Amino acid sequence: MLIEPPIYLNAMLTDFRIAGGAVRMVKFEHVTQLQQLAEPVIFNCTGLGARALFDDQELTPIKGQLTVLLPQAEVNYLTLMEDDLYMFPRTDGVLLGGLFQKGEWSLSVDEATRARVLRGHAQFFGSFRRCPRAGLNDFRPGRVFETNRSNLAV
Ligand SMILES: Cc1cc2nc3c(=O)[nH]c(=O)nc-3n(C[C@H](O)[C@H](O)[C@H](O)COP(=O)(O)OP(=O)(O)OC[C@H]3O[C@@H](n4cnc5c(N)ncnc54)[C@H](O)[C@@H]3O)c2cc1C
Repeated sequence: MLIEPPIYLNAMLTDFRIAGGAVRMVKFEHVTQLQQLAEPVIFNCTGLGARALFDDQELTPIKGQLTVLLPQAEVNYLTLMEDDLYMFPRTDGVLLGGLFQKGEWSLSVDEATRARVLRGHAQFFGSFRRCPRAGLNDFRPGRVFETNRSNLAV
């Protein structure tokens, strides 16, 4: 299942508010601040922030990076390819990935990754230009089309 985070997360927040919930922004500098909260139940959703807050050295970042193209409403499919390449469409853009870099804290854009991702997708979608154009008559029984597995679109 795929969701569009900007739409889905906003809808969740709206539901939460409609149900009587309220949002208060607090930066917890120390774990003792949590003990001073009046709320009887606390869900810890601090992500990587939990590493410092709870001194949990096991928490490790995994860096990802996306390249976002202009939205294209006609793209209603996604692709998963070799070399960790993938594409999926959202209302606000076409997202190209990917990167999965364990232990990397940097939030800066990695230009080599951006170039690899763009080049990989250009090669993949560009390869369609070499496909012979097929008319409906070409799909008669007995006709065989060769496919390259690495070029399969899901
Ligand atoms: C490039 C990229 C692409 C991704 N694509 C997908 C995808 O397509 N689908 C998918 O499911 N996941 C995707 N992910 C992963 C997804 O973003 C994370 O799994 C998700 O954001 C984790 O949510 P979370 O609420 O646990 O943590 P976070 O989103 O990290 O939220 C933690 C929150 O806690 C706050 N916080 C931390 N410390 C403190 C503190 N001391 N006091 C107060 N607040 C604090 C932070 O400010 C933050 O708001 C992607 C990640 C990356 C990097």
